[in-house]
Amino acid sequence: MSDTPSPSRAAGRLSARPSAQPRELMTDAPDLAGVWTAQVITLFPQAFPGVLGESLTGRALKDGLWQLQPIDLRPYGEGRHRNVDDTPAGGGAGMVLRADIVGRAIEDAKARAKGVTPVIYLSPRGRRLDQPLARELAQADGVILLCGRFEGVDERVLEEHEVLEVSLGDFVLTGGEIAAQALIDATVRLIPRVLGNQASTEEESFSDGLLEHPQYTKPAVWKGRAIPEVLLSGHHAKITGWRREMAERLTKERRPDLWRAYRARHDADPDEDREL
Ligand code: SAH
Repeated sequence: MSDTPSPSRAAGRLSARPSAQPRELMTDAPDLAGVWTAQVITLFPQAFPGVLGESLTGRALKDGLWQLQPIDLRPYGEGRHRNVDDTPAGGGAGMVLRADIVGRAIEDAKARAKGVTPVIYLSPRGRRLDQPLARELAQADGVILLCGRFEGVDERVLEEHEVLEVSLGDFVLTGGEIAAQALIDATVRLIPRVLGNQASTEEESFSDGLLEHPQYTKPAVWKGRAIPEVLLSGHHAKITGWRREMAERLTKERRPDLWRAYRARHDADPDEDREL
């Protein structure tokens, strides 16, 4: 055996390495051709891969099933302190990331990107991240993610690059990094072979517009609570029926919005017309 690391190991190590010099990253990082790639523009590249380096997403990263290229925004900054932000036009609290500086980082990322690679700004004003969006992004060749900080980003850079804004939910985070990791996690697990058991993405929450049924495992009885008998019956059709009924009931109770959409879809199909 030679000392040369296997391509997958090299990819895992290098793809997770934050770069102090964006231009250096462009020449150094060996792009794995055809591999789904997340380029993440951030002031905190050391926050990556973070939790994405663990468990199934981490293994898939090491195995070269996807790659991660954090882009440090700081070196794009101006002056001795590499300033990236300034006070908001019109006054008010906080700082805003400058359009020219963020713009250059996006241009570099776009120049490096291959195929269909949407540019996304993680933002509380954005379209809510959901399973259909994760599925769409998994079909693309990768994403360029912009993580905001402070009061956010100069609007002009979002217009200029036709950036899609995506939100994690109706709350305000301190920065876009956690949201970026959530988006990458939800997307990467839909890439073939990332999850060991592909069937699990077909049955889980949202796969058919429903929340998932309850899950149980050993022991059969715990603190006087028994696993529902049907699950131990070995009768597969009955188990499937019970799971679907529970999924429908949970969705109806907890998420009337999802339930209405589900009914609207299934009411178009007379065979599916049943009332709980
Ligand atoms: N002043 C902004 C909030 C800035 S929070 C506003 O009121 O809309 C700082 C950064 O955190 C944002 O630029 C964004 O990148 C990130 N962020 C905050 N909340 C988020 C959310 N719900 N989803 C995704 N990103 C979020």
